[in-house]
Amino acid sequence: MSVAERARRERALAGAAVVVEHCRKCEIGASRRNSVYGEGDPCAALMVIGEGPGETEDKLGRPFVGRAGELLDKMLLAIGLPREDVFICNTVKCRPTLDDGVRLRNRAPQPDEMANCRPFLDQQIEIIAPKAILCLGAPSAKSFLGPKFSITRQRGTWFEGPSGIPLIATFHPAYILRMTGGELNATKRLVWDDLKKVRAKLDEPVVRVDSPAVQPTLFEG
Ligand code: URA
Repeated sequence: MSVAERARRERALAGAAVVVEHCRKCEIGASRRNSVYGEGDPCAALMVIGEGPGETEDKLGRPFVGRAGELLDKMLLAIGLPREDVFICNTVKCRPTLDDGVRLRNRAPQPDEMANCRPFLDQQIEIIAPKAILCLGAPSAKSFLGPKFSITRQRGTWFEGPSGIPLIATFHPAYILRMTGGELNATKRLVWDDLKKVRAKLDEPVVRVDSPAVQPTLFEG
């Protein structure tokens, strides 16, 4: 990746983050402390997409920096990817909250909030053009694959994501953190299988069929 191309992507992402910062399409745009645009390598081969910012992310304006984020960092490192080498973001850029009368609690993003935020996510994918997308949890995967997607049955399967980018889903780290004992071990094994598939996909050579260097060899002997 050329220095100029990296700089172009950095500029494009920084400009888009400012637009997100000013967005008030949803009520959560007014209730959140900081928007959480996403962060990481603008030339990343892997884009990781979670559900939405939680309390710590809202406070710091950065994705996956709470307990789930610590686990995500370990999951990525296990397949040789330091956090700064991937791009991490969410389906929504503002923290969805529920006021229970005592405090603001995290909640799942509503379909209209996800729809409002979708152009920002699509733009991120277009700028970064990753080799693969890893969705964390069912809401993130469903936002690409439709409401029938089942995380228990279809995690660990490659799908065609936006612009034909291979997309796979695994369990959300926050879900793993809620488990204990045998259930936890079994879930960790499944997640490890999914992560190995991500590693294998990133290690696949990029075959450019339009490359003049490749075409003549297609018909050899
Ligand atoms: N959970 C998410 O889905 N995203 C974050 O950024 C943090 C926790």
